[in-house]
Amino acid sequence: MLGRLFHIGADVFRLNFSHGSHADHAANIAAVRALEHAARRPIGLLADVQGPKLRVGRFAGGRVHLSAGQTFTFDQDPSPGNARRVQLPHPEILSAAASGTTLLLDDGKLRLRVERARGGHLECEVLVGGPLGDRKGVNVPDMVLNIPALTDKDRSDMAFALDQGVDFIGLSFVQRPEDVAEARAIADSRAWIVSKIEKPQALDQLDAIIALSDAVMVARGDLGVELPPEEVPLAQKRIVRAARAAGRPVIVATQMLESMIAAPAPTRAEASDVAGAVFDGTDAVMLSGETAVGQYPAEAVAMMDRIITRVEADPGWRQVMDAGRPGTDSLVSSAIAAAAGQIARSIGARAIAAFTASGKTALRVARERPSQPILAIVTELPVVRRLSLAWGVHAVHAQDAHTMTEAVARAARLAREEGLAQQGQTLVIAAGIPFGQAGSTNSLRVTTVK
Ligand code: PEP
Repeated sequence: MLGRLFHIGADVFRLNFSHGSHADHAANIAAVRALEHAARRPIGLLADVQGPKLRVGRFAGGRVHLSAGQTFTFDQDPSPGNARRVQLPHPEILSAAASGTTLLLDDGKLRLRVERARGGHLECEVLVGGPLGDRKGVNVPDMVLNIPALTDKDRSDMAFALDQGVDFIGLSFVQRPEDVAEARAIADSRAWIVSKIEKPQALDQLDAIIALSDAVMVARGDLGVELPPEEVPLAQKRIVRAARAAGRPVIVATQMLESMIAAPAPTRAEASDVAGAVFDGTDAVMLSGETAVGQYPAEAVAMMDRIITRVEADPGWRQVMDAGRPGTDSLVSSAIAAAAGQIARSIGARAIAAFTASGKTALRVARERPSQPILAIVTELPVVRRLSLAWGVHAVHAQDAHTMTEAVARAARLAREEGLAQQGQTLVIAAGIPFGQAGSTNSLRVTTVK
């Protein structure tokens, strides 16, 4: 099935470390790498670590029912709970919550308001009731919680995933730029850090979080628990716009084709949602339950691929991308990338080739959302895989050139071999002189494929 999904259009596979053992993940990683070897195309692997998910304790009978209007208390007593109380094994919430703080339970299905906070107890009024089972999740949308971004489990999962050579670490429940910095220090450039934006607090420091991240994800599942539903589309648009402006790939995730877990075709609203994300200018759209546990994984990927292809062929989408093109910043690579897009447009070039060591030049070109495919010529295999997340980039692993003449010949040959340009067609090439030095992009050439 992984092979089918890849050939239908999947570029990156996510390993969700909220589920499964290291042995399960190792088997999936090995299967994806075998597939990559057979297909001779890079495939991205995203290890998504669980993060500090807060949970209630356990109940004597496994679950209770809370009714609107009743009082319910959270405390530090580890003995099994009942319909009046349960342990909340997070002292940081017990000490920081105050009268008026909202607590959301079980993905926001139950809503409670703190009436009295004292002596490590939170006495709450149940505003919206319902069944509550053992270890259900707790969200506290009003507060920045003083909790570490990475739990002990996350650190162990990250160490395992990095040893396995994954390409991206997905960082859950990022609240502050410092959370990203902590993960970066551990990853030590062995993988890109994808910050999942799923806390309203992260939106308050969005630009600083994006600046420290290699990519971001609009994690609408948890974001939609803490934000009212009408705010989620606006947050999505804001995150996608900010990520594109910063030249960072962005993923829109969760419930995109949710009904396809159990049906072979999506609802009209779901098709519109995927199209909407593409119109927002996202780099990637993600499936979760649809392909992890759904009955129609191949149909879901095929549907997503068809929607993306259809939207991107529409002149309206092109207009929106051109109108939303971020202004050039003071980076030389941005100016070269913008010029490459402009030249390719005016001369009707078939592709833009970018020599890139870190992947940044290819990302700068992708930020322009040019009308031509971007051929990233990359010396480092890990960077080739990481570019699988970027919009419009077809990355290949190749030796670096030593002279401009060599670079031009190599770009033309690769463009032909990869089916991006034929003899007599034009290429725009962005490169850095001296060659082999990251951050040196400073040159543009136009060539005709021989
Ligand atoms: C989300 O919350 O939307 C998300 C992608 O995270 P997860 O699937 O890990 O809960």
